Amino acid sequence: MSVRVRFAPSPTGFLHIGGLRTALYNYLFAKHHGGTFVLRIEDTDQSRYVEDAEQDIIDSLEWAGMTIDEGPTNPGEVGPYRQSERKEMYHKYAKQLIESGHAYYAFDTTEEIDQMRERLKASGNPSPSYDSITRQSMKNSLTLPQDEVEKKLENGDDYVIRLKVPRRETVKFEDLIRGVVSFETAGLDDQVLMKSDGMPTYHLANVVDDHTMNITHVIRGEEWLSSAPKHMLLYNAFGWEPPTMAHLPLIMSPSGGKLSKRKAESEGIPVNTKDYIAGNYEPEALINFLAYLGWSPGDDSEIHDMKELCELFTLDRVSKGGAVFNYKKLMWYNEHYIRETSIADLLPRVKELAEDAGFDTKDDEYLETVVGLLHERVSKVDEFVEMGSFFFEAPKEYDEKALKKWKDDSAGLVTAYKEKVEALSDAEFEAATLKSKLEETISEHEVGFGKLMMPLRIAVTGQGFGPDLFASLELLGKEEVLDRIDVALEKLG
Ligand code: GLU
Repeated sequence: MSVRVRFAPSPTGFLHIGGLRTALYNYLFAKHHGGTFVLRIEDTDQSRYVEDAEQDIIDSLEWAGMTIDEGPTNPGEVGPYRQSERKEMYHKYAKQLIESGHAYYAFDTTEEIDQMRERLKASGNPSPSYDSITRQSMKNSLTLPQDEVEKKLENGDDYVIRLKVPRRETVKFEDLIRGVVSFETAGLDDQVLMKSDGMPTYHLANVVDDHTMNITHVIRGEEWLSSAPKHMLLYNAFGWEPPTMAHLPLIMSPSGGKLSKRKAESEGIPVNTKDYIAGNYEPEALINFLAYLGWSPGDDSEIHDMKELCELFTLDRVSKGGAVFNYKKLMWYNEHYIRETSIADLLPRVKELAEDAGFDTKDDEYLETVVGLLHERVSKVDEFVEMGSFFFEAPKEYDEKALKKWKDDSAGLVTAYKEKVEALSDAEFEAATLKSKLEETISEHEVGFGKLMMPLRIAVTGQGFGPDLFASLELLGKEEVLDRIDVALEKLG
């Protein structure tokens, strides 16, 4: 049987980075086995539905390089791929469970259920549930006469459908990451399968869909592990073979605990995939990084593109323990992928960013030199524009920290240097000559390299560090450099 996996997000907000990793592991597993990657939108909770979320999920997967084999916008044979469009199917299957004696209609109001819980609490039961014992004294199709049940249904009275959870059973299944998981049914509520609004609950919809969509492996976050036994009960009730389960480790924040939205924000970690898109991160870097967040190929290799990851990925190398999100490591990957990208490929991206920032990027040859000078220094593509802003515009102000290096003798040294380079023709104004003029100046004044280099850099770039200074001066050209020196001498004295 060929592998079929699904990524099944609820469209309740933008795609979280943890969700992207779940999608990635599903995708890698599917492609490793030549299988199918399905996107299913779990939108049964209408109170939490967010309008643009589905599009955000689809865009995010595409940006990350995961091709959806079947989904709402490119359906295969087992659709529809949005749960809200499958309502009838859930009804049919819930009814089937009632007929086979595995589920029942329950007509109790919220008040009646609360009263039952209060009563039991008062008699010493700390966590009363609607279960095999209490269901016998509630208002449901197991306790009410048949004709009354039918009348209620005909009248359109509110009801839910509940699963008849067996009294004392041990539910066991094998999780590919966690090994054998076992769970006691004692104390478990008779799960609601259909809600009074006619919508299925997550549990019913999830099981019906995984079965009818021929899903072979369920790969999802650890937070769903506690739902798995309920799903197993449902598979048993239907008499269906359950898919193989694999529950992924949590993603942890560097300061400990689960990487929640709030935690991530407080630690400066972008949390939604769209923030990475808008933040100009390299998708290959994020994918490579996320692949290693809970998995490793078992050697010390670290750099792999999507194709290689598909070849290498196996679930038995996924760890059980939480994986800490190390932002520095992500930036390390990002820097790596920037360096791997050719200047020609970077050029149009840098051009767009620079123009967005309101810079005149001059001609492509100029911009190409800028990109070349900064290529080994940036770790994110927008830094070409930040670090390289002085290539497009004279500094409006000087970096405060750098200014500490502007000393009493700086103006004199810069002036001496300026006089030397002023005498150069435009053609002579090139990096090697500019460097030798600096060497000449410092030896005449008997000072160290930094004494002139630093103030010169500040005057021309406004910053304390940056790309090769002499190549930068050459690119800016004689007139521009001399102008900037004059302005700095006037401002800084
Ligand atoms: N809809 C669930 C979610 O939002 C899916 C859980 C599962 O994969 O079963 O993550």
